[in-house]
Amino acid sequence: EAFKRGKDKALPYNEVMSKQLNDHISYTREIKQALAFNEFELHYQPQYDHLNNMIGAEALLRWNNPLRGYESPAVYIPIAEESDLIMQISSYVLQQACEDIRKLQQLPLPDTFKQVSINISAKQLAKHDFADTIILAIKKNQISPLHLKIEITESIMMGDIELSIACLEKLHDFGVECAIDDFGTGYSSLAYLKRLPASLLKIDRSFVTDIHKDPSNHAIANMVIKLANSLNMEVIAEGVETKQELDSLIALGCYQYQGFYFSRPLTFNKLVESLEA
Ligand code: C2E
Ligand code: MG
Ligand code: MG
Ligand code: MG
Repeated sequence: EAFKRGKDKALPYNEVMSKQLNDHISYTREIKQALAFNEFELHYQPQYDHLNNMIGAEALLRWNNPLRGYESPAVYIPIAEESDLIMQISSYVLQQACEDIRKLQQLPLPDTFKQVSINISAKQLAKHDFADTIILAIKKNQISPLHLKIEITESIMMGDIELSIACLEKLHDFGVECAIDDFGTGYSSLAYLKRLPASLLKIDRSFVTDIHKDPSNHAIANMVIKLANSLNMEVIAEGVETKQELDSLIALGCYQYQGFYFSRPLTFNKLVESLEA
């Protein structure tokens, strides 16, 4: 009885709000400290083709938090995006990815390995100097632009679309290709998709899960694959976890994959090990 009362005891509304606000402020402070103490790392999830060749890797941000351990970027990226903190995190990601690509370039990479991709936040893309920032990092680190790919989501449609297209075109002319991430989950306008200089569609994990037994997912994935083919774009499935899902994707004509069935995200050293294996 006492336990029950304690559990049900609700805070007044304004106290709930101020608690949330305080949590938010302290979380923001923690992100700042994490940057200062170099607690962020980049891990890499390998991508494969249907012949089991590694064709690339996606850089995924990891915060090695001494108290909480690893937390998904899906938790702190949105918080960082509410302030300029996202720009500091993004600079770290870009610089670290370039340094790692430079190391990869010094290895005897398999011919099939094309590039490393990084995730770009909507705020980054909204900056006028977005393309120049990427180009400068490539030059400064002396890497090939062909070895870096950027991933953007459809959320760019909600910003200055003309500016975004201009930036992506500038990067494309420089040799940096662009992928549309989580395709189908955002506000996609096919009219804009046609104008984006993107070379790859990433089928969102939510459409890949149980594709072999979920008729709607099967239909959606089929449509995305056909769309990519007719727009002369490549297509990759994300979140492939089982052999059955893989078999369905092959049957639909999708030949690039990423997911736990193939590999979890790896530390850079583990990525190098599996490239050398
Ligand atoms: P995303 O770009 O769609 O990345 C794929 C996410 O799916 C990653 O989660 C990855 O670990 C997870 N994943 C991959 N394969 C599987 C699978 O087979 N099953 C399951 N259940 N999950 C799988 P993660 O690392 O937690 O990242 C979540 C999101 O955070 C990313 O989604 C991306 O939008 C964002 N993010 C990650 N790194 C960065 C970054 O450096 N910058 C920015 N702006 N966003 C980032
Ligand atoms: Mg991504
Ligand atoms: Mg994705
Ligand atoms: Mg996703």
